[in-house]
Amino acid sequence: MNPWQNAEQTLRRVGEKANIKAEIIDILLKHDRKIETTLSIALDDGSIKEFNAYRMQHNNWRGPYKGGLRYHPQVSLDEIKALSMWMTIKNAIIDVPFGGGKGGIEVNPKDLSKAELERLTRAFTRELTPFIGPDKDVPAPDVNTNGEIMKWIADEYGDKAVVTGKNIEDGGAEGRTEATGYGGVYALLAVLESMDIKPSGLTASVQGFGNVGTYAAESMIEQGIKVVALSDSKNTIYSATGFSDIMALVNAKSRLGSLAAAVKELGIGCDVLAVDDIFGIKVDILTPAALEMAITSENVDKIDAKIILELANGPTTPAAEKVLNDKKIVIIPDVLANSGGVAVSYYEWYQNRHDEKWTKEQALDKLEGQMRMAVSEVVTIAKELDLTLREAAYVLAVRRLEAARLKG
Ligand code: NAD
Repeated sequence: MNPWQNAEQTLRRVGEKANIKAEIIDILLKHDRKIETTLSIALDDGSIKEFNAYRMQHNNWRGPYKGGLRYHPQVSLDEIKALSMWMTIKNAIIDVPFGGGKGGIEVNPKDLSKAELERLTRAFTRELTPFIGPDKDVPAPDVNTNGEIMKWIADEYGDKAVVTGKNIEDGGAEGRTEATGYGGVYALLAVLESMDIKPSGLTASVQGFGNVGTYAAESMIEQGIKVVALSDSKNTIYSATGFSDIMALVNAKSRLGSLAAAVKELGIGCDVLAVDDIFGIKVDILTPAALEMAITSENVDKIDAKIILELANGPTTPAAEKVLNDKKIVIIPDVLANSGGVAVSYYEWYQNRHDEKWTKEQALDKLEGQMRMAVSEVVTIAKELDLTLREAAYVLAVRRLEAARLKG
């Protein structure tokens, strides 16, 4: 199953279960515009190389298309289709005035020099220029893209408000780097409150030690949650007593290349396990924060957790989700849990357009309120209609999308 089949199946299933009009589901399964192109750039040795690149604009009833750009060798049109649809749903749930879009280039950025990466990004921007803009479509970083890449796009396009996720000195927003991880933990705390569970003393594991996973782990520890397992693309590390200094691990990993090497250098006593062993570790909260389709029929039976906090996009396949639902494991769905990133992206876009500068504290306070509000609305719908949190989140999104469509 590819991510688009996953997205399509989820939307259809939720539509049927929650009695959403078939007409609206059919519309949401279509995209407004597909941009598919081949970029040719000169490499440093003078040779020419081609790269496939995509941007899908899914829906703009609620505002400009909005969503990240991913640079990864496995980027495909089906993946971008799924991610752009999820952005429409997510932006409606967190209630920012944006629609959904997503893009990417089939490339391993580690194979390119910085100059080559800049040429590739600028070539992509020139292709996208007729279709993007602060009021049309606002890209952002995603896997393997960052503030510097956003700066090249803004420069090539000629307006900083065309992208979000910029570095602070280029017009970025305070709090954006932490927003998705911290926002996910704000959502977790609100869900725990609705279940009358205190966070302190719970255990958690985090799959994926990138931007989202690290800030989520750090924030969980601040809340008294014991983070006992972490993984990157090479290994899982496990400590029954829990990890404490996440930022020391981040720094060591970025110097040494892996979590396994990082714990060795820092002298942290823990088990180094195989990458997928993270799913077999008993915890209260399992946090997929790497890529799509991490939890599948293959590994779902190993999972021994009470809550899945989906910080990656589309980390659970529909078949695995059915197993988790049958076991009454609570899934805090991606479209709700990881919406903190786009919420703060909206703050950035707003500040750029109104010439304002908010502090990190202002941004994170506002984010916490916005995440709590979204969780409260989703939990209310779930209780009223006897739905899972994912189903309820989609119902909330579709209600808001329909209202925007009727307003015109
Ligand atoms: P990132 O590139 O910073 O981190 C991804 C991490 O996952 C990397 O450390 C990589 O080594 C690791 N990884 C890859 N395969 C793995 C595997 N099989 N097992 C364990 N780890 C693995 O990316 P990110 O920005 O942290 O994004 C992570 C996920 O969150 C993606 O699904 C992304 O779409 C989603 N997301 C990100 C944001 C954001 O603001 N960055 C917002 C919403 C959703």
